[in-house]
Amino acid sequence: MKVQDARYVMSNSDYQKCPSPDLPEYAFIGRSNVGKSSLINMLVEKKSLAKTSQQPGKTQLINHFLINNSWYLVDLPGYGYAKVSKVEREKWEKMIGDYLHNRENLICTFVLIDIRHSALAADLDFMANLGEAGIPFHIIFTKADKLKSGQVASNVEAYRQKLEEIWEEVPPMFISSAEKNEGRDPILETIETYNQS
Ligand code: GDP
Repeated sequence: MKVQDARYVMSNSDYQKCPSPDLPEYAFIGRSNVGKSSLINMLVEKKSLAKTSQQPGKTQLINHFLINNSWYLVDLPGYGYAKVSKVEREKWEKMIGDYLHNRENLICTFVLIDIRHSALAADLDFMANLGEAGIPFHIIFTKADKLKSGQVASNVEAYRQKLEEIWEEVPPMFISSAEKNEGRDPILETIETYNQS
């Protein structure tokens, strides 16, 4: 799939105020600073559709983008930022939980993981919650350019093994680098396959 058109639609804290759920939707989420905005901009081939390098923990809204007039890309606020207060964290949990559990056109969620990190509790817990709720998800490793290719492969393998300890079936995994403009096609092809089914 080629992204011919990508436009910002709206930002909300309440899933019920999001655009009417009449197009397939794909959400992107991960720890603050994981490279989510950079990845989204790479996917849609626009420099600044999603805002990069915001102060971590600041954007606390559900952001909708309309792609090719046929599907929604949703940029969800990141988790795991240490300086966020308990009240803020609880607000985030409610907003994201409500969205993920109730958004009827959500096809799948892409969970972003910094390729340099070993499996972190915040990510594993988040994925466990998705799994328990029956919400399909895929994993995208980000910032692959930060490691040598052999190290990328062994980190992915270590992550896979960790997930196999928890899950019978490991979700599909993608490797990306926004810096090197790599990893776009397999992600967009996956979305296209869903859109056509
Ligand atoms: P977000 O907070 O998850 O949206 O992360 P951003 O996209 O704003 O990126 C956080 C930081 O990581 C910024 O300094 C980016 O320049 C950097 N970054 C993001 N993606 C990549 C990547 O693929 N490679 C490298 N080397 N740095 C990246």
